Amino acid sequence: MSEYDYVIIGGGDAGFAAASTLREEGADGSVLVVSRDPDRPYDRTAVSKGFLGGEKSRDEVLLGGADWFTENNVDLLVRTSAMKVDVDAHTVTLSNKDVVTYGKLLLATGANVNRLRVEGGALDGIHYLRTLLTAHELREDVQDPVVCVGGSYIATEVAATLTSMGHKVSLVMQEDVTLERTFGKTAGGYFQKTLTDNGVEIHGGQDVDHFEGDGRVGAVVTASGLRVEARTVVVGVGAHPDVSLAKKAGLEIGERGGVVVNSALATSAPDVFAAGDIAEYDSVVHGKRLRIEHWDVAENQGKTAARSMLGSEAPYDVVPYFFSDLADWTWMEYVGPAYEWDEEILRGSLEESNFCLWYLHDGRVVGALAVNRSDDLELARKLITTGEKVDREQLP
Ligand SMILES: Cc1cc2nc3c(=O)[nH]c(=O)nc-3n(C[C@H](O)[C@H](O)[C@H](O)COP(=O)(O)OP(=O)(O)OC[C@H]3O[C@@H](n4cnc5c(N)ncnc54)[C@H](O)[C@@H]3O)c2cc1C
Repeated sequence: MSEYDYVIIGGGDAGFAAASTLREEGADGSVLVVSRDPDRPYDRTAVSKGFLGGEKSRDEVLLGGADWFTENNVDLLVRTSAMKVDVDAHTVTLSNKDVVTYGKLLLATGANVNRLRVEGGALDGIHYLRTLLTAHELREDVQDPVVCVGGSYIATEVAATLTSMGHKVSLVMQEDVTLERTFGKTAGGYFQKTLTDNGVEIHGGQDVDHFEGDGRVGAVVTASGLRVEARTVVVGVGAHPDVSLAKKAGLEIGERGGVVVNSALATSAPDVFAAGDIAEYDSVVHGKRLRIEHWDVAENQGKTAARSMLGSEAPYDVVPYFFSDLADWTWMEYVGPAYEWDEEILRGSLEESNFCLWYLHDGRVVGALAVNRSDDLELARKLITTGEKVDREQLP
């Protein structure tokens, strides 16, 4: 049995941010990071963009660089799963049969992709993206024509990346307009036009019924009878938090499917914390419980969780931020999240790809989406935090 002061389960953005913050804050105890992934912690946002497109190598996306773990005296186990947490005994059982004891434990197990359970779903050529390995497998296997299934970030990002690599790509989605569920039809229309202007063919309002093929996929067939030829399919239909370990350990699971934590990211068990995609946290900014799957949230929650493990009670109080890009065609940044709004105010120009779209509910700013106008997000963060009614003229 090995003993550690701090054990972090999950080698993603949240887990790495926590490990590095422990050291930055001067913790000199022993630290272990356990990750099921075959790779050392890396920037997952590159999986559908720079790494898939071949602009960034594996080494270039490693968090902290190649020697970070040795230099910072942090033990890392890759290709290793945590199988069981005993919160009373303060132990974690690993897939290599070792049992480690912890002083403080962080769960940062992230999310798993949602799978399309339809006829033909197991045919060759159907891909899901979450890890560097899955991006590598897609790159090795991709054949035209490609169909991306989904109308949100992953499917649109992959459609853009593969098109810019010279592939023939179409997109099949339930939404009428790409990204409309998060950003509404105005912004969604801008992203959709960007995709179609660059050659992506879009089929909106379509539910995938089944995949046709003989060994390898040959077509995507929708419930309305649309048949889109495909030698490769990339499915991007969301993800769900990986709470299997937390559930087995008896931790409280919330309505949004995540591990319930307080505003300082402590779970219902003593000395156990959770951060990132799995954390269903009390948001001091929004005054309600949220669970968000964004890189910046994972990063900042990893930092907060590390400080909490060191005894701080300071809450995670950052306004959630998200970014995405469609190849080098456009780049977006967003703060919020605006779950509902009754007014959109556009400043700038969609045609010139230079705008900020303000989302208001009951006269208060609840979100803002910026394309080439990052500076406006500072004011948006302030207004979301204060929750004050705004004078529309005040919005730049
Ligand atoms: C392809 C893709 C592109 C994205 N692009 C963007 C973007 O542009 N902008 C943005 O804001 N967000 C983006 N995101 C979302 C963002 O990457 C995630 O919100 C973030 O990575 C979550 O970090 P995390 O540490 O909570 O989880 P993850 O990064 O998923 O890490 C979880 C880790 O836990 C490990 N693990 C799970 N269970 C166990 C276990 N039992 N034992 C050991 N290890 C375990 C996993 O192997 C993994 O290493 C993207 C996500 C994906 C998949």
